[in-house]
Amino acid sequence: FGALRSRRKCLGFVLLLQVFSRRRVSGTETPSRRLKSFTVSDLISKIQTAYVETLEELSWMDSPSKEKAREKAMAIKEHIGYPDHILQESSQKLDQEYAHLNFSEEHYFENILENLQSEAQKSLKKLREPVDPDLWIIGAAVVNAFYSPNRNQIVFPAGILQPPFFSKHQHQALNFGGIGMVIGHEITHGFDDNGRNFDKDGNMLNWWSNYSADHFKEQSQCMVQQYGNFIWNLAGGQNVSGISTLGENIADNGGVRQAYKAYLKWVETEGEEPQLPGLDMDHKQLFFLNFAQVWCGAYRPEYASQSIKTDSHSPLEYRVLGSLQNFEAFSEAFQCPIGSPMNPEQKCRVW
Ligand SMILES: [Zn+2]
Repeated sequence: FGALRSRRKCLGFVLLLQVFSRRRVSGTETPSRRLKSFTVSDLISKIQTAYVETLEELSWMDSPSKEKAREKAMAIKEHIGYPDHILQESSQKLDQEYAHLNFSEEHYFENILENLQSEAQKSLKKLREPVDPDLWIIGAAVVNAFYSPNRNQIVFPAGILQPPFFSKHQHQALNFGGIGMVIGHEITHGFDDNGRNFDKDGNMLNWWSNYSADHFKEQSQCMVQQYGNFIWNLAGGQNVSGISTLGENIADNGGVRQAYKAYLKWVETEGEEPQLPGLDMDHKQLFFLNFAQVWCGAYRPEYASQSIKTDSHSPLEYRVLGSLQNFEAFSEAFQCPIGSPMNPEQKCRVW
């Protein structure tokens, strides 16, 4: 989903180290326990459906490939919040995970070495073992989300299931524009320039007709150009690399589209929500407002220069502008005249 920003370094290490134990320390029956089982899972299936319905709008893909794409989308497995075993009173699995670690309060550097060693041993142990589909690939406290192409699996750790992404106390417009868009983003990764090479079981297998594969490349090329033309002043005026950010841009564009479609469908059945006090914005505008809000962030110039060369994600502001320039529903919601910067005549679309 997003780059792991290095915030404060120590906190970053805690997040990586205490993969699951933090959650255990910080509380047992939390609100996210309840949310975990209902709303997020429900949202995922709504977005999955939106993805499948959107396939029908695409003229560049033939029906056999659409059918395969539909199968793959519906076969995506989900991990939400944290593994259940960490909440059990005496979780042997959890205790075992940390039993051999000897951390000390005084030796920060040694603690890090200890952890690196333990992680390396953990991965070596997996060699020649069958894939464990229940394994959590990331810690619960991480504010990020993931798609794993060789598992065809999406993961939403507890860390991202909070405002501004998600809350049962905030408008659904904000939830769909926030976590809904993230869900769509992760699903779309299964169909970006990398994920599309794997089938519904996560095996590398070409399930595309030549017609659809050729057109996929053609549609993608439009985004390579569009994002490649963004110039990032903070990185000394360098251009974004449209090629190395392609997969993320495809996911961003697909994600916001699916989330919006799912939101409109929700409004159809549940009705429009009231406006927020003090904000003269309708429900569609609020959706886009929170979509942009979750990308709010700041870079130092040094980090900008580094990440424009190394990050597979576009800079935050272009993640917002790029996706919305391509989305006619945004121009409608904010009445952007045709030919204005946010409503260009040429729009790119893959999914
Ligand atoms: Zn991503």
